[in-house]
Amino acid sequence: MLWSKYYIPTLKEDPAEAEIVSHKLLLRAGMIRKLTSGIYIYLPLGWKALQKISDIIRQEMNRFGAIEIRMPAVQPGDLWKESGRWDVYGRELLRFQDRHGRDYCLGPTHEEVITDLVRGEIKSYRQLPINLYQIQTKFRDEIRPRFGLMRGREFIMKDAYSFDRDDQGATKSYEDMYAAYVSIFEKLGLKFRAVEADSGPIGGSFSHEFMVLAETGEDTIAVCTECDFAANLEKAEVKYADTPDSPADCPELEKVFTPDKHSVEEVAKFLKVPEEKIVKTLLYDADGQAVAVLVRGDRELNEVKLKNLLDVIDLRLASAEQVQQWSGAPVGFAGPVGLNVDVIYADQELMFDNDFVIGANEKDTHYLHFDPRRDAKIKGYYDLRQITESDPCPRCGAKIELTKGIEVGHIFKLGTKYSEALRATFLDENGKERPMIMGCYGIGVSRVLAACIEQNHDENGIIFPPPIAPFDAHLLALNPKDELVKDKASEIYDALTAQGIDCLFDDRLERPGVKFKDADLIGLPLQIIVGARALQRGVIEIKIRHSGEKIELGLDEIVSGFQEVQKKVFEFYRL
Ligand code: ATP
Ligand code: MG
Repeated sequence: MLWSKYYIPTLKEDPAEAEIVSHKLLLRAGMIRKLTSGIYIYLPLGWKALQKISDIIRQEMNRFGAIEIRMPAVQPGDLWKESGRWDVYGRELLRFQDRHGRDYCLGPTHEEVITDLVRGEIKSYRQLPINLYQIQTKFRDEIRPRFGLMRGREFIMKDAYSFDRDDQGATKSYEDMYAAYVSIFEKLGLKFRAVEADSGPIGGSFSHEFMVLAETGEDTIAVCTECDFAANLEKAEVKYADTPDSPADCPELEKVFTPDKHSVEEVAKFLKVPEEKIVKTLLYDADGQAVAVLVRGDRELNEVKLKNLLDVIDLRLASAEQVQQWSGAPVGFAGPVGLNVDVIYADQELMFDNDFVIGANEKDTHYLHFDPRRDAKIKGYYDLRQITESDPCPRCGAKIELTKGIEVGHIFKLGTKYSEALRATFLDENGKERPMIMGCYGIGVSRVLAACIEQNHDENGIIFPPPIAPFDAHLLALNPKDELVKDKASEIYDALTAQGIDCLFDDRLERPGVKFKDADLIGLPLQIIVGARALQRGVIEIKIRHSGEKIELGLDEIVSGFQEVQKKVFEFYRL
């Protein structure tokens, strides 16, 4: 492809709207443009990279037995009412009506549609298992669309759905998709990790997320340094220390004056107690019900664990007014003794310890010597807090490390949630009607492109791993007005193209500096530089984008020399 005949609108300056590096670079490299909040146009280079990602996904999905179809983006509201999600999916679901006043939505996911298809077509155990997938546009009206392709409202997803006769078959389908995903992300040349995950609102019993490792990731993952345990922080269970026989005796509750001391840190400093001897009382509005949760001052509550425990749809921290109403005090002084809240839960760590500082439900006042079992009516003690690096691995007890990742894929074992709601049943060997066992498997195709750039860039631009790079190589004719340079570059372009090497040929009448900058910005893995001075010495230069290494090749060995260097690059990405 000749640059002069293509469309690559690169930008010199960082666009003000972009907060994270992938968003900046996608805009600057002329790969995407914003249409409106969370909705983007894919320009030629961006679209080509997305095609390459899709091709690898397709190839591996097919290899593992999934079959490609294509479902509509517009879905009838009736199906969502049938599954029960019309009311619970919340405002991410973009709903509208047609001219007849019938309800529709833009698909954020396709469980309803696929289950509707399969229930009408598949009747016998002989037709199972089946796994159908598509690569298609999704719409989620995210509260805060941001970070470019990372969290869009309209985005591209590969979604697959498996249907099995029994649980054993469903487990096999799940394992096949797990293997397919490992293979996909390896073949994309990305550093990633599969982690145990929460199943979220889609529901189901088991799930893994695939995380591209990057410091800028929104997700935190807990990884064991010894065994293969890895989990999303949202999900990572905490292994609680063995319980002591009986905690020490605890003096009676005692009120103390703590003027203007609201935070755990302020109270700890003021009363000269360690943060771990303070109990935080967090108040939540859970589907309209007031709930209090107690955790140690030095810990973080895990809202996902709390939400799962309460089994509610909408969980939010109480507003300042609710805090005042329920505790009788301004924010910062709520405590479990005398609180006007029916349900109090506590983190398991509090069960066998006492002598804590708590809020006294009075302005500027705390209690000393709180004993959870003696002084408060606690409904239950559960694993409700976030794992930390000082906790042992819940599997093997070794050290845990926390790292950052970007969720690019998510696989779920769904069970019969949708097949029962939508009555997708089949007749088994004995003529008995049974619900199909489902699984669902998603990859955020457009997010993969953003995640790839978060993981692979430097101050000059993108550093594409070869499988995702929109072209294999970037050929630069430094001064195309020079006949020799122009002819030689064209000759190289033809020779590489004949070998199936997809080349972007920068034939523009631009200064070399501009071309070098654009080449680094776009980030193709290899640059082939043809300049007058090097030609006089009978050589051209190849630059490896990821290492910056430059290699000279003689004019008679360009194709074979290029292929040698390319091999080295593949090895670097373990391809
Ligand atoms: P997240 O937790 O990031 O909101 P999710 O868990 O809601 O994502 P899934 O329902 O598991 O997402 O969707 C499958 C995949 O689709 C995700 O793993 C992610 O890669 C991608 N994805 C989800 N939401 C978005 C979005 N708003 N923009 C781009 N990609 C997305
Ligand atoms: Mg997910």
